[in-house]
Amino acid sequence: MQFKDVLVSPKLKEQLLNQVHEHRISHAQFFLAQPGNHAFALAVALAQYLCCEHPTDTDSCGTCPSCVQFSKLSHPDLHIYFPNCNTKTIKKDSDSILLAPEFKDFVIKNNYHITMQDWLNVLEGENKQPSINIRDCSNIINHNSMRSYMGGYKVYILWAVDRLYHSAAPKLLKTLEEPDGQSLFILISEKPDQILSTILSRTQLVKIPRLTDEELMDALKAAEPDIDDQTIHDIAVISEGNYNKALQIYQDNAEQREMIDTFDTMMTSIMAFVHQRPLEEINYAQVQTLFGVIVKQGREKQKAFVELILRMLRNLLMQNTGSANLVKVTDQESGILSKFKNLNLVHITKMTEECNKALYHINRNGNTALIFTDLYFKLAGCVK
Ligand SMILES: [Zn+2]
Repeated sequence: MQFKDVLVSPKLKEQLLNQVHEHRISHAQFFLAQPGNHAFALAVALAQYLCCEHPTDTDSCGTCPSCVQFSKLSHPDLHIYFPNCNTKTIKKDSDSILLAPEFKDFVIKNNYHITMQDWLNVLEGENKQPSINIRDCSNIINHNSMRSYMGGYKVYILWAVDRLYHSAAPKLLKTLEEPDGQSLFILISEKPDQILSTILSRTQLVKIPRLTDEELMDALKAAEPDIDDQTIHDIAVISEGNYNKALQIYQDNAEQREMIDTFDTMMTSIMAFVHQRPLEEINYAQVQTLFGVIVKQGREKQKAFVELILRMLRNLLMQNTGSANLVKVTDQESGILSKFKNLNLVHITKMTEECNKALYHINRNGNTALIFTDLYFKLAGCVK
């Protein structure tokens, strides 16, 4: 992870770089993070910079052997500790070393945008209380008494250190106070009130501020180049500087828009079919392709799609029976609904019944490819 790819304010990066250039790196730092911060990325970027063989004034080189190892989080002087618990594969005495492959994989897959909730999902430890435990603390202390592998810094990153098991913490105090050799400890947490004051008092505080709306918009634009400016702006405003949240909102939106498009294509095809329009207008192959996409996405998506049809039918009913003021849809949806003004109360009631039957069959684990094909012709039958 290079500084250039870390999503925090440039000022903060500069502040950390200055520490390095002026040889006044505090050997124990506490990164006070905010939800959705790129705090873990920042910690790794700092570690990578310290170990890089050809750093520039502003960043690690990204290509030297040390940087290459960092890109896989496998540098021998990088030690990562994180809340852990027994899992399906680690049945007893879990610790951060045993679970390191899973954690590194998790970090890289999520592009360093990691949250405790997502990590809990990986651990399948929802009912457990993962912690940085007593074995982790012993490992840190033992490691710290050894020389670094590459002759430079040994860096210890303790992620979500608020989950440091309290009775294990005193073991660490001496190491934090008088670390061996060139060591850097970076403790990361969003919850300083849950950390022992004796730990906090031994670290230098580095506050990682929320992203501004502008920084968040730039980051979203970089991640999703197709997204339009208005959408970016709307998402940034409601995301409160939280990149993970912004991305989630965008992805949910994108899924929703895709399903609306499928509804549009399906209904347009059904109307063309009912009115015996030419085959290319019916375009049934396209409908089948779109159904195929939904079927592949699993039962929850399939149900969500039928529920979307039901919601659109309710709004169609309002629109077509003189209660347009009760229609609650987005601009995109409104444009689609206006194409189907000739559907009347009887049509829509029958269609609603068919959708409810389809939902019932999906819930009963029916063959969904068949259910959607069937639904198409049933809906057409309702309009005839
Ligand atoms: Zn390098």
